[in-house]
Amino acid sequence: MSSDVLVFIEHLNGKIADVSFELLGKGRELADALGGKLDAVVMGGACDQMVAQLGKADRVVCVSGLGEFNPDAYRNALADVVAKREPRATLIPYTSMGMELASGVSAAREIPLVSFVNNIAVENGQLVSTASVFGGKMFAEVESDGAVILAVLAGSFNGDAGRGEGAPVVEEMQTAADGAGIAFKQMIQPEAADVDITKQEILVSVGRGIQSADNLELVEELANALGGALSSSRPVVDNGWLPKARQVGKSGVSVKPKLYLAVGISGAPEHIEGMKDAGTIIAINTDANAPIFDVADYGVTADLFDVVPALTEKIKSA
Ligand SMILES: Cc1cc2nc3c(=O)[nH]c(=O)nc-3n(C[C@H](O)[C@H](O)[C@H](O)COP(=O)(O)OP(=O)(O)OC[C@H]3O[C@@H](n4cnc5c(N)ncnc54)[C@H](O)[C@@H]3O)c2cc1C
Repeated sequence: MSSDVLVFIEHLNGKIADVSFELLGKGRELADALGGKLDAVVMGGACDQMVAQLGKADRVVCVSGLGEFNPDAYRNALADVVAKREPRATLIPYTSMGMELASGVSAAREIPLVSFVNNIAVENGQLVSTASVFGGKMFAEVESDGAVILAVLAGSFNGDAGRGEGAPVVEEMQTAADGAGIAFKQMIQPEAADVDITKQEILVSVGRGIQSADNLELVEELANALGGALSSSRPVVDNGWLPKARQVGKSGVSVKPKLYLAVGISGAPEHIEGMKDAGTIIAINTDANAPIFDVADYGVTADLFDVVPALTEKIKSA
């Protein structure tokens, strides 16, 4: 095992995902603390065009021979890179893509995996990672004195720390890893949105606490009174109550309105990831211990069916 840190660089359509820069910034800090090198590994795509953006790394491993994302092929190729480099820590974003890879590489190389990681530090030569468990209600500290794979939640670290000039050494690696029975057929782009919630200054966001589609009218009225738009957590979309384009969070979109009013939303890490950068966050929830209150600037522990109509009335009459 080396003292190096390896970061998997996620990209789509030639664009490096923001979370990759977050991991590079943290990876740089960890590699320096451990006295090792920072490796960035790029699979598929035009690696040569991405290298210029990966200046924080000491080395960029460009893995060629891979097409569009294929979980089996990418996992096998990444397992090969890990076997060759023997990094002390492998940082993979906990995204839809990263989830497939982290567990697979962990099993293939018999290296422990810590998921839902939102902090990593080096303490007395040990890697100490913090994992957010039970939907963010508890945190587990995991000490690793050997190699470890860390699946890191997006939004945990500063992305700017991972961007910068540099001249990493580029290493080409050809892989023969194939996708077994899985073949890429086509990229399906999400449907055009009825409202672009990423451009709204005011969002009233509704969660499972609304109970049924029939009650949406209540929050829509509040959004209209405020001159904003309606967004939601994932269960509201999964239930078919609002279109996918209205979903905020990890598998939806990230929003940054001036005002984000979270109504009946618990504040799971996957939701917080998409709205934590809003200017002012207000939460309405019956559960005083709901994690949404940890990120809210203002909160009301109350029934939304009491507060929302009263608030709408107040705004309309102001
Ligand atoms: C890979 C992955 C990706 C995901 N992506 C996303 C994503 O993009 N976006 C997302 O939101 N989630 C996402 N999730 C799901 C996420 O983990 C949570 O399950 C989800 O955010 C919970 O939604 P919620 O807060 O609306 O529902 P719940 O967690 O069920 O919370 C409902 C809240 O409403 C409150 N409540 C109930 N009744 C009332 C009332 N009358 N008045 C006031 N408050 C009330 C409750 O106290 C509770 O806090 C993802 C999960 C995974 C595993």
